[in-house]
Amino acid sequence: MAEEEKQLEEFEQIDFLKDRHVRFFQRTLQVLPERYASLETTRLSIVFFALSGLDVLGSLDVIDKDLIIEWIYSQQVLPTDDKSNLGRCGFRGSSHIGIPYSTKGPGVLHPYDSGHVAMTYTGLCSLLILGDDLSRVNKQGCLAGLRALQLEDGSFYSVPEGSENDIRFIYCAACICFMLDDWSGMNIQKAIEYIRGSLSYDSGFGQGAGRESHGGWTYCAIASLCLMGRLEEALSPRELDRIRRWCIMRQQSGFHGRPNKPVDTCYSFWVGATLELLGVFRYTNFEKNRNFILSTQDRLVGGFAKWPDSHPDPLHAYFGLCGLSLIGEPNLRKVHPALNITQGAFQHLQQLHQTWRSSCGQQH
Ligand SMILES: [Zn+2]
Repeated sequence: MAEEEKQLEEFEQIDFLKDRHVRFFQRTLQVLPERYASLETTRLSIVFFALSGLDVLGSLDVIDKDLIIEWIYSQQVLPTDDKSNLGRCGFRGSSHIGIPYSTKGPGVLHPYDSGHVAMTYTGLCSLLILGDDLSRVNKQGCLAGLRALQLEDGSFYSVPEGSENDIRFIYCAACICFMLDDWSGMNIQKAIEYIRGSLSYDSGFGQGAGRESHGGWTYCAIASLCLMGRLEEALSPRELDRIRRWCIMRQQSGFHGRPNKPVDTCYSFWVGATLELLGVFRYTNFEKNRNFILSTQDRLVGGFAKWPDSHPDPLHAYFGLCGLSLIGEPNLRKVHPALNITQGAFQHLQQLHQTWRSSCGQQH
């Protein structure tokens, strides 16, 4: 009997609780615990985790898509009549500075209002996930806002006032240019030089030159180069092999982000997707990876935490799902490893690009 119970416990431990995760993301869109108050300025990224999570779960039908599309457009920083704020355009994270609700231009001039590169990235992704055609995105504003954020060394700030500058924001910028099908938003060559300069002695990528290798930065570096279509031009076959090796060595049970650190759910995506982009993910141990991710699943409220027996949060809930999707968990939609949205949302984007290109051809 005791033996049977033990077996039952083990069986239950690897059960994937899909309905709980759907409810977790529904709640994320409706109401958040007080401890999230400090994340108000980046609320759009939390909305993205919930929407893309529901998309991976094949459950977008539980939300009112049109309502959320309108809210996302209300966060677009649009050019003013005199276009004096072009370098500040993009998407902001929420209505925290009190700009009146509006989904139409012209923009309102406010000294502290500007887009944030990660909000523009997650805003555009969210619109695609919801099936929007991006026709109300002010592309010229987004691209001008992006150009204003790139530094001489090729890296990007997140906001015009200045912030940390590193490969994370190059990745966001690459996603924006890729989605808008227009690379005039950045100097690609300089960005590639910054990425190359961040390759560390042990063949992972750091936040910048001379910094410690890290799974998250390595993902941003490789995914950016893939989106640019410049992976094999920027890195030699020997360098790519060494990067593959550094990434494969990050698997313990799940993956960690740096040597001698504990495994963490989100790296099943950051490192897993990098290995997928580099064509060698199949050489990792899927079963150990799956067991670790599921050990961080919250069986009561849904979602995943970074570690077992910890509180789930939207970021780890989303990347836990993406990690499971990469290893082919049944009933989960496939994720595009470089753009970090489902393959379905990616195909929708490709169709939009085709439409834009053919209408552009007709004009000339
Ligand atoms: Zn994490």
